This record gives sequence, C-alpha cells and structure tokens, in this order.
Amino acid sequence: LIPVQTSTQDKYNIHTGLQLMPELEKFVEQFPSRSAIVMVDAFVLEHHRHYFEPALSSHFKRLHVFEVPRGEKAKSFEVYKQAVDFVLEKGVERSTPLIAIGGGVTGDLSGFVAATVLRGLPLIHVPTTLLAMVDSSIGGKTGINHQVGKNLVGSFYQPRAVFADGTFLSTLSRKEWVNGLSEVLKYGMIRHPEMLDDIALLLESNRFTEAEAWLPLIRKSAQTKTDIVAEDVLESGKRAFLNFGHTYAHVIEREGGYQRYSHGEAVFAGMIAAVEASNALGASINPTNLLKFKPLYELSLDEITSSPAELTEIMRKDKKVKDNQIRLILLEKMGTPYIHEVNDTELVEQSWQNMLNVF
Ligand code: NAD
Ligand code: ZN
Repeated sequence: LIPVQTSTQDKYNIHTGLQLMPELEKFVEQFPSRSAIVMVDAFVLEHHRHYFEPALSSHFKRLHVFEVPRGEKAKSFEVYKQAVDFVLEKGVERSTPLIAIGGGVTGDLSGFVAATVLRGLPLIHVPTTLLAMVDSSIGGKTGINHQVGKNLVGSFYQPRAVFADGTFLSTLSRKEWVNGLSEVLKYGMIRHPEMLDDIALLLESNRFTEAEAWLPLIRKSAQTKTDIVAEDVLESGKRAFLNFGHTYAHVIEREGGYQRYSHGEAVFAGMIAAVEASNALGASINPTNLLKFKPLYELSLDEITSSPAELTEIMRKDKKVKDNQIRLILLEKMGTPYIHEVNDTELVEQSWQNMLNVF
C-alpha cells in the first residue's frame, strides 16, 4: 500500500472585515515574485482600482492587470483563452501569484486560469460581491461554462488566502445584495436557524445594504460553507447539503432562459419548494420563516408556463440525476438537512405546485 496525502485540504485563511488592504499588502510580502497577475471585474476595476492597487504595487514591481468583462459570459472558452494568452505572454513563473478581484464570475474564471497555467499559480481571492464572499470564493471549485451547461469545465483548486473585504460592497446594487442573501438564508435553513433572525433584524434596522451590518453574517456564512466543505472535500456526501433549494432553482433558471430570473431569486423559490416537500414527508417547518423575506425579491414566476409534472420531468433529466432518481435536499427540521432520493413524483409535483401558488 502506498499512502498518498492529497493536497486538496491545504490550509488557508479567510480574512473578513472592512479596510483589509493593509492585511493583503502584508500577506503578499511572502511572494518572492517581482510581478503579479491581477484579474479584475471591469466594474470593480473602474470603481475600486484606487483602493486595491496601492496595496499590491507597494510589493510587486509590476502588476499585470487583466480586465474581466462583466457578466456570466466571461466564464467562456474565449475569455479563458484571452486570459491564458495574457498571463503567458507576460512571462509568468510558477511563483507568480494571481489575484482575483471580483464576483463569482471573476473568481471562477481566474481560479481556473490559476489552476491550469503552468499547472498551478498561487491564487488569492478577493471576492467583491456578497455571493462571492459567502459562497463562490470558498470550497475550491473553479471553472467555466460550456454550451451543454454551466460550470461543466473546471477543477478543484484551493487559494492561498481569501480576503472578503466589505469595503468593496459600498457599490453593490440592491439586486446583487438580494442575490447573495439567498445563500445566507440557505446556511440558516440547513445549519444555523438563528441566522434568519439576524437577517430579519438587519432589515428592521434599515441596514440591508450596509456592509458593516452584514459582517457578522458574512463571517458566519463563510464559516458554515467552510465547515460543510471540510466535512466532505470532494462532494460525495454532505457537500450536497449546500444544494438546498438548488435542485428546483436550476430548473427555474433554465426555464427562464438564464436571463429572466437571478440565481438568488431561483434559489429563494427553490427553498420554499424544498420546505413544502419536507413538510409533506413529516417535518413541521413554518414556511413563514422564509416567506417573511419574500418582499425583498419582487419575484413573479408567471413566465414559468410548464406544469408541475413537466418541471418534475425536467428535474429528472438533470445531468446529475442518477438512475432516474431526483435527489432532493430536504429538512427534518430547521437546521437539520438530509438527502432524499425521490421515486415519488407526486411529492415533487405537489411541492412545485405549492411553490408556484406562492409566486
Ligand atoms: P458576478 O461575478 O457576475 O457579479 C455580479 C455583478 O456584480 C457583476 O455585474 C459585477 O460586475 C458586479 N460587481 C462585482 N463586485 C461589485 C462591487 N463591489 N460593487 C458593485 N458591483 C460589483 O456574479 P456573482 O453573483 O458574484 O457570482 C455568480 C457566479 O458565481 C456564477 O457564475 C456561479 O456559477 C458562480 N458560483 C461559483 C461557486 C463556486 O463554488 N465556485 C459557488 C456559487 C456560485
Ligand atoms: Zn447558489
């Protein structure tokens, strides 16, 4: 027997807070490289360059800045190639760090570039959306989309550090706050129900788009995702809990042509359906726990014209479905998830119907 120590669990820290650039400045001093690659979301580059650039240029003689176009379309083979060309033509070495500054799109694309160029460059994530801070920058999934589906080409690649600096959130639109909110609600539903009360308080105090007010929830969310991923590094079991609401959400996003509904909206609706299905199987979760956040979403599913039976059939055809079984993440009670492989299409159809009645 040859024991192999996998490196998928390399230790690193997630820094959270406001005004973290001095910490980042100190962190990059460990890299001997005289240059660094910075892949930045176009909006962030325009609005926050003055904020992050001095912290990096004080240590690196040269910063090679690649502007990542805004939007999901940047997770394409075309932009991936442009980025790889850019990085290689600048003459990088294995020790040249790549710093990704932006939302989940920038993080996923840049992470994949870092994972693949020279078989791996040191990667630092600087997430700048709520969603990226609480979700996409954690867990090591990187990648791009393929015409067959989203996130189908990629790799697991861990960063050296994550700097979730709330200072960037000052420019985040309300729509993007709501988008990230769904993942935070998800962590509350699957592990820490008290988080839902904390979010409700934040809303009551009219501080919904204030980074400072969000910091405790950002920390708790990042910790929760870290814990669940650590319990299951290569997604064989528990990591699936993070898909709570997402089995339904993927169908809604698809039915809306990936344009009509944001991921966060779809996940919110999906979580309502998952609560309905959980209750049908004996849980007694009060849907109001989630429904009290509904006004934030202004969501109508009128454009979903398929019937619950058709929606259920689409779920069954999902690429991740094994042996024709729909795999749902349901709750025994608030904070206690389980994986349920469904044969009973009636249960799923009814949960779709109940959800559609709400929206
Ligand atoms: P995004 O990166 O497209 O960012 C959303 C919008 O916010 C963009 O228009 C961007 O320009 C803008 N933006 C970014 N930072 C800003 C700031 N500080 N102020 C104002 N605007 C800002 O999308 P996202 O929601 O951050 O991430 C979604 C992506 O993440 C999807 O591609 C999804 O597949 C991926 N994702 C990955 C994982 C993972 O584990 N790797 C997990 C969840 C989601
Ligand atoms: Zn999600």
